[in-house]
Amino acid sequence: MNGLTARRAGSPEPVHIHRAPWVFPGIGPAVADGAVAVCGDHIVEVGKARDVVSRYGTGAARLWDHEASALVPAAINAHTHLDFSGLSLSKPEEPPGFARWVFSVFEAKGGLSPSERREARSKGRAEAAETGTVWLGDVVNPPLDGVVHDRSLPFERRFVEVLGFSARTLEEVLPALHGGETMPWPLAAHSLYGTSWDVIRQAKAWTRARRLPFSIHAAEHREETAFVRDGEGFCRDLLTVLSRWNASWRPSGTSPVRTLEALGVLDPQTLLVHMVHVDPEDWDITARRGACVCFCPRSNLWIEGTLPKIEEAIRRKIPCALGTDSRASNEDLNLFREGAAVLDAYSGVEPAVVLRMMTFGGARALGLEGSWGVLAPGAAMPFLAVPLGGCPASENDLAEAIIRQGSMGCGAWIGGETSC
Ligand SMILES: [Zn+2]
Repeated sequence: MNGLTARRAGSPEPVHIHRAPWVFPGIGPAVADGAVAVCGDHIVEVGKARDVVSRYGTGAARLWDHEASALVPAAINAHTHLDFSGLSLSKPEEPPGFARWVFSVFEAKGGLSPSERREARSKGRAEAAETGTVWLGDVVNPPLDGVVHDRSLPFERRFVEVLGFSARTLEEVLPALHGGETMPWPLAAHSLYGTSWDVIRQAKAWTRARRLPFSIHAAEHREETAFVRDGEGFCRDLLTVLSRWNASWRPSGTSPVRTLEALGVLDPQTLLVHMVHVDPEDWDITARRGACVCFCPRSNLWIEGTLPKIEEAIRRKIPCALGTDSRASNEDLNLFREGAAVLDAYSGVEPAVVLRMMTFGGARALGLEGSWGVLAPGAAMPFLAVPLGGCPASENDLAEAIIRQGSMGCGAWIGGETSC
């Protein structure tokens, strides 16, 4: 590496130029022989290496060569539950279905003490940081005293879970929201069977008024679809067993997505997680409302053996992100492995689109666009350098190489606390 010391005109901080055979910016086309110039904690320029270097003049910056590598935004895992990271379940040989799965999780998880919870969360965080994830969209359950504020990677976009099918008001479920305490966190209603529909509406209104993201598990499994449409099946039995049944509740007679639309909760700041049992009209509604979708395909395969129709969402230009979900239904929290699983299962989804879902799409879903998920002027550090293990000939070859290499643990953080 060439180490030169100079400063950007008018700036007290030195500029560092990172040069590589490929830059995958997350938005816009990949750049061959590219460079990313950074100053302090932010990117100041991205482009052809010769242009970026000449702009700062020969020797006018510190120059770092990342040979045979690609520079890429760090991954953003848009949906997980860090509290479950202490579970070490192995993937069942046959998908158990939601009913059997949920009881196995109750059994394995039990009640976590605050220290077990802290331990689980730090284990999950460490795994995410080691595998190139800079942000997690994490669903947390009150009480929040086991949730430690940690300034190290990865950063957490925390969604406070709103649960209670028999509850009537948001205040009943989350009294802290209405006390003196300020809690500017996004909310995640559990689902149409885990949260009462009045409370779902109220939780969305609360986040909408504060311009915060709102998330809900939607159309994840057949039991959900049967319950929402007809009021029958395992979800009803489960609510009865848990003493959460509401005798005055009536099913909607339609799909989860149409039901969420009728509740008025679909808009660009709503993140629909899973979206497996979705028909063409549901996809049209999602596109029209501009809602984001987070796919967690390995979790869907684990629980039910069914995959979401990612191509349908892409075709309609629905903003898509990728998530691992939790260790209760996935072998790891490695988003590059989630991306590789999409490459393996979907021949019709381009690798460059998958990599954008893992970066730009995640930032969009978590309300972090502009600052994260892209390599562009003004975006924040850190990002990744991933060795390519070959010479990709096209953007899709490049994206596939990045995802495959990342899934094998290859890559290094550039900037941030792990400054080069
Ligand atoms: Zn989940």
